[in-house]
Amino acid sequence: MTFAATVLTLYPEMFPGPLGHSIAGRGLSDGRWSLDTVQIRDFATDRHRTVDGTPAGGGAGMVLRADILAAACDSVGYDRPMLAMTPRGTPLTQARVRELAGGPGVSVLCGRFEGFDERLFEGRPIEPVSIGDYILSGGEMGALVLLDACIRLLPGVMGAPSSGDDESFETGLLEYPQYTRPVEWEGRTIPEVLRSGDHAKISAWRKRQAEIDTRSRRPDLWERHEGARVQSPSGARREKEREP
Ligand code: SAH
Repeated sequence: MTFAATVLTLYPEMFPGPLGHSIAGRGLSDGRWSLDTVQIRDFATDRHRTVDGTPAGGGAGMVLRADILAAACDSVGYDRPMLAMTPRGTPLTQARVRELAGGPGVSVLCGRFEGFDERLFEGRPIEPVSIGDYILSGGEMGALVLLDACIRLLPGVMGAPSSGDDESFETGLLEYPQYTRPVEWEGRTIPEVLRSGDHAKISAWRKRQAEIDTRSRRPDLWERHEGARVQSPSGARREKEREP
């Protein structure tokens, strides 16, 4: 089955862009996923092909018009999830990416200027999604990020199918640190345990490092991880076992 991606944008020439290369690019030419773009401006109704207006209530910049965006979205339809890129959206997670990758595809609406007329989200089944707490100049980079995250999970796209499993976030933790040759670089050596060949020791070390790094770099993830562990029966048991 082909994962069908449609991007609605004022800059269709930005696609496939980086998704035409490497793993995603190979997946595209192998037909694991397909890409369509829709030029939002084609749905403008005036001579000047206007897609935006000044913000109601005043303020800087321009706002994309709900009527024109809705016409563009309606032309694609809502059989597949329709996501709109906006910093006001629900933050994208690996769990949501997995769900999307398991479905028939996704449509992604890209904003520009000050973003979308809010009524679009009331009038159409469109999910507002953010790729992080920072502001981009347009939704196109966000769409590339979202699609890349989905595409690498499609069957047959990634070389070794197992290499997705203990990646950062899949376990609720960051991944453990990785090393490769040379064994010594600028006086720093690869941790001894990784060269021991003792698989039980290696996996215990990796688990511990993942915990240490998550705790210091991502206290938010760590707190959620710990919360889930203490609440689950096996987690509660483990907590007890640790008591003196
Ligand atoms: N005024 C808006 C930001 C507009 S940025 C606000 O403060 O909420 C212009 C466009 O870039 C947005 O419409 C959106 O499509 C895209 N964009 C910017 N930051 C983004 C983010 N963190 N996640 C997803 N899309 C983003």
